[in-house]
Amino acid sequence: MALSHKLAGSYRHFNVAIYATVYDVQQMADLDWLKASFGAITRHLYVDKLYLETHRDTIVADEETIAQARKFFEAQGVCTSGGITLTVNERNRFQTYCYTNPAHRQKVKEVVEYTARLFDELILDDFFFTNCKCTSCIEAKGDRSWTEFRLALMAEAAQNLVVGPARAVNPQIKTVIKYPNWYVHFQGLGLNLETEPPIFDGLYTGTETRDPVHGNQHLQQYHGYSIFRYLENIKPGGNDGGWVDTFGARYLDRYAEQLWLTLFAKAPEVTLFHFGQLERPIELSHRAAWQGNGTSGGGTGFDFDAMLASAGKGADPRDNATWPPGTTMALAAGYAFDQVDPVLAQLGQPVGVKSYRPYHATGEDHLHSYLGMLGIPIDLVPEFPAEARTILLTESAKFDAGIVDKIKGQLMDGKSVVVTSGLFKALQDKGMRDIVELTVTDHKAGVQDFLIGWFQVYHAESPVLVPHIDYLTNDSWEEISGLTRTTGHPLLHSASYADGVLYVLTVPDNFDDLYKLPVEVLARIRSALMGDLCVQVDGPAQVALFVYDNDTFVVESFLPETTQVRIVVKDSTTAPCDVLSGELLSGEQILDWRGQSTGKSSFEAAINPHAFRVFRLK
Ligand SMILES: [Zn+2]
Repeated sequence: MALSHKLAGSYRHFNVAIYATVYDVQQMADLDWLKASFGAITRHLYVDKLYLETHRDTIVADEETIAQARKFFEAQGVCTSGGITLTVNERNRFQTYCYTNPAHRQKVKEVVEYTARLFDELILDDFFFTNCKCTSCIEAKGDRSWTEFRLALMAEAAQNLVVGPARAVNPQIKTVIKYPNWYVHFQGLGLNLETEPPIFDGLYTGTETRDPVHGNQHLQQYHGYSIFRYLENIKPGGNDGGWVDTFGARYLDRYAEQLWLTLFAKAPEVTLFHFGQLERPIELSHRAAWQGNGTSGGGTGFDFDAMLASAGKGADPRDNATWPPGTTMALAAGYAFDQVDPVLAQLGQPVGVKSYRPYHATGEDHLHSYLGMLGIPIDLVPEFPAEARTILLTESAKFDAGIVDKIKGQLMDGKSVVVTSGLFKALQDKGMRDIVELTVTDHKAGVQDFLIGWFQVYHAESPVLVPHIDYLTNDSWEEISGLTRTTGHPLLHSASYADGVLYVLTVPDNFDDLYKLPVEVLARIRSALMGDLCVQVDGPAQVALFVYDNDTFVVESFLPETTQVRIVVKDSTTAPCDVLSGELLSGEQILDWRGQSTGKSSFEAAINPHAFRVFRLK
């Protein structure tokens, strides 16, 4: 498989594009190098498209080289588009252009016109934002916040320096803006999710989340899925793909996971950044410690040794001197794609718990991704999802001035709203006490034992620091309590209002303390949120669930050891069937305390380290 060139074909359920930076494009002037490099990449990988970058760091690729590269790719049936990175100096803390500087504005416009003349599609890489605080920008900002100033500045630049000039030069052009992975903070630098998506013809999503621990961003793995869905919800049908680089993935499992999550989110195309990086050699350190630790039906999701074996015989995974030439990141990408392509046909449209983030909102930053890591499928939307029977609202919802009335409306309609302690606190003096008289205080408690009901106490391995909530006895109710010796602190709290139920979910001071919560506590939290989904998967944190509208779901573990989970199916006339192995799980009916059927069934399943399983209810 791997030794034959993958030129005349494609993956069945997605396209693959490679992004060539301007530095890559400059190297393509050497046609022999280009032939050899692309040949090496396509030994492992089907490639449908090349993005050829015309500009980065004020360097512009010359027209002759671009023309030669286009001819080369198009002769092999690979289509080409233009790419632009609007950095002045990427290595200087991503120094961007200054959009109040007339010379900079002129340069941006010229680069766009140049690119639009050469291509019928152009994509802007991550950097269509500004971090300039020069005296001209300070003066232009005036009394506005940096966020207000930059949002307006970049929306204007989108129209007048990018889309307008591009269309003037090439009326056929499709303009696409690729957004980076840090949507929570876009507005501060002028990346505008409200006004830009209608200006551009398409958008693209940075699903590269890299390492959740090492690195400044600390993006949780689930973020790679949820950001694609969020941007798709902002421009339905207009999210052209997900974009993954090779950086920060200390283990190849992490690289593969980013590709899989992009596709589980139903991206129609994956862009691999960047051409030169795909020839980077795989290293011994890329083989994670948990490789080979899987105890159920084989190894980890990304089987390093099997990947090596696919590249040639006789390679010893522990001795890279024995690895065949071409043991590169392209091999890893191709191997990961081969694994996921067969299951994608099974998956319908993603569904999840509706959660509302008003445009340009902050508050409990990144909490959605942590909740996704608890096995709660998150469907983040930019408009209030009044039709949903259950809505999750984190602190960012406070940016909607009418949010309390919207919450009341849902409750009056007999629906459920789950608000975090952070949102309740932000709104408790702004109308929330009209729903329930409760106070999220500044007092803290370190809780390690958790009470559900009257007697069931569950223990966490180490304490979780939570804010203390005061409430009026018999007016609202503790569903889960954190215990400290002789007192308690609501962790999940409920209050009725008309026919609806308001839940308050207490969020620990450190979000990753959520991962410490006992399995039974997580199960109770999921039950409050996931009543509308056909399935719930109960197990420890860091096992994610992706649910689709055709009775299929994916369970993916990010844990380093095999994990037992309990799959709760809401319709007990069905059972999960493993799509890849064909195994139909056997389970049992879930009975209530009187011994009566609840209409639900439960099934045990093992998930290998850093692996996924795909199920269909039959
Ligand atoms: Zn400036």
